[in-house]
Amino acid sequence: MYCLVCGKLSFYHICKRCKAEFLKPSLYKRVVEKEFEVYSFYRYSTIKDLILTKHKFIGYFIYSILAQESFKKFAKEFKFTNQLYSFACDDHVKNGYSHTAILNKYLKSPYITPVHSVLRAQTEVNYSGKSLQFRQNNPRNFIYKYRSNIDAIIIDDIITTGSTIKEAKKILEENGVNVLFALTLTDARE
Ligand SMILES: [Zn+2]
Repeated sequence: MYCLVCGKLSFYHICKRCKAEFLKPSLYKRVVEKEFEVYSFYRYSTIKDLILTKHKFIGYFIYSILAQESFKKFAKEFKFTNQLYSFACDDHVKNGYSHTAILNKYLKSPYITPVHSVLRAQTEVNYSGKSLQFRQNNPRNFIYKYRSNIDAIIIDDIITTGSTIKEAKKILEENGVNVLFALTLTDARE
């Protein structure tokens, strides 16, 4: 096959050289409402084309590579005083997999327990390219079905206006969950 980044012949979807050169994660911070911090690992311009694969079959492999290079490394370094849970925004399965569930899965560590399918959007709206006004008029209407009185982090692949993460945080807090921060692959507003 060919490396999706450089186009050269490779044994992997993304060759070793491109992984080392382009997928070394950083930690960028965006603060949304009341000092709530959203961290992301990559510049949007760097992984924009890779993010676009999420609605295709190959996106499964690409998201797995991105998750191993960033979320998994983060989880390896991350320590906390007590047990943390991680929930992905909207991890319903589309085209055979859920791209946010892949990211969440790689956070598993002695401190973090990824839990799937507990933060579900009731409204299936495509937010891609839509304005903040449109997003506010068409909320996700998340429902949360899991434990209360726990510490948690929110996972998504991309933060754009921040409205999805804010909505997820609100519903978690209404259910007695202490939300520490959110983790995304990239910030579209870098
Ligand atoms: Zn390459």
